[in-house]
Amino acid sequence: MSGEPPSVELLRTRGLRVTKPRLAVLDILSQGGHLEVDEITRQARTQLDSVSTQAIYDVLGALARAGLARRIEPAGSPALYEARTGDNHHHIVCRACGAIADVDCAVGSAPCLDPNQTHGFEVDEAEVTYWGLCPACRVLADDD
Ligand SMILES: [Zn+2]
Ligand SMILES: [Zn+2]
Repeated sequence: MSGEPPSVELLRTRGLRVTKPRLAVLDILSQGGHLEVDEITRQARTQLDSVSTQAIYDVLGALARAGLARRIEPAGSPALYEARTGDNHHHIVCRACGAIADVDCAVGSAPCLDPNQTHGFEVDEAEVTYWGLCPACRVLADDD
């Protein structure tokens, strides 16, 4: 045991140099949820003296390429980042307020859906987004 924080180990095992911005972003993402770059930047600035939005984009790009962050972009939403990667989970999105929740993949491994036609493609992933109204927006809708 080296006694290093888990996020330091994580970066090293993926071959990434350990930097303060990378540690800060990993820490923010590890708290869960699906965060916009603006929100990640805001939180990072509470931990770091100063960091540019571009630097945060660069960190997120590096983490995503290393498999430590996942980028999703539901129609109508800005790009969102999360730390939950590699489990082929899907998302359920509220049409009214944009709230997002994780949905476990029913099958577990990609691709979890077999298309009727493949047109000769070898399919390795199916990106599924479920759309509906979240509980809070259902209550509002019922008030009318
Ligand atoms: Zn909603
Ligand atoms: Zn997710």
